[in-house]
Amino acid sequence: MSIITRFAPSPTGHLHLGHAHSALFGWHAAVDHGGRFLLRIEDIDPARCRPEFERDLIEDLDWLGLDWPGPVRRQSEHLDDYRAALERLDRIGVTYPCFCTRREIEEEIARAGHAPHGPDGPIYPGTCRTLTAEERGNRLARGMPFAVRIDVVHALELAGRLTWHDRAAGTVRATPEMLGDAVLARKDVPTSYHLSVTVDDNLQGVTLVTRGEDLFFATHLHRLLQALLGYATPEYHHHGLLTGERGERLAKRDKAVSLRALRAAGRTPADVRAMAGFP
Ligand code: GLU
Repeated sequence: MSIITRFAPSPTGHLHLGHAHSALFGWHAAVDHGGRFLLRIEDIDPARCRPEFERDLIEDLDWLGLDWPGPVRRQSEHLDDYRAALERLDRIGVTYPCFCTRREIEEEIARAGHAPHGPDGPIYPGTCRTLTAEERGNRLARGMPFAVRIDVVHALELAGRLTWHDRAAGTVRATPEMLGDAVLARKDVPTSYHLSVTVDDNLQGVTLVTRGEDLFFATHLHRLLQALLGYATPEYHHHGLLTGERGERLAKRDKAVSLRALRAAGRTPADVRAMAGFP
């Protein structure tokens, strides 16, 4: 089977050396083995994504020497696909509307005195999971805005024991309960990172998901969503993150290591590829 990988940046800033490492990692994992590398634009967050960042990142990747078969999949143009997946999950009874505001969640956690923490911070206390059907119906009828969450315990009861294979970590047992009832669709956007990535990797036939180890925890939930939606599970390779000289994590706001800045300073694509770990 021919390998299909993807690089899936969000156009919320300029690409830096860490992104170059990740993109090159995915590109080599596919292209060196006769496979295909895809570019996907993860622009579901209208408040943070900007078209000029998308234009610039495509230009940066091109400058770096990467190529991909077009057209590029832009998530904001496929909201119907995510809606359809959400409806499927709703039909099997593993989602519920959550009307809580961020503030209410914080207050609920403070009231409880102690809240279990997941890799993403304190986990949602489940307030809206236990609403009566009547209360839920009333709120929906009043037009209260809501996010959609997964009832992770119930979903796991349906899905059973799940594992995936990671090229770095080996066989991993999925424990998405550590993330709690994660958001699948936000109040302002009819999807979330977790849902759209899982849907797209399936629709695009991705066979090997390469991404930074900072997203390792997310795979636990993606594996569960794959099982619920009847998708095949790709192989994974979560790679180590490139760090700065002092071992710090690179950030989009860190202008010094942006590919644009390196290019403006006279570095060649070959220099930057080497700096990103792929000489
Ligand atoms: N869009 C995500 C990011 O920029 C990456 C998603 C993924 O590779 O799964 O961090």
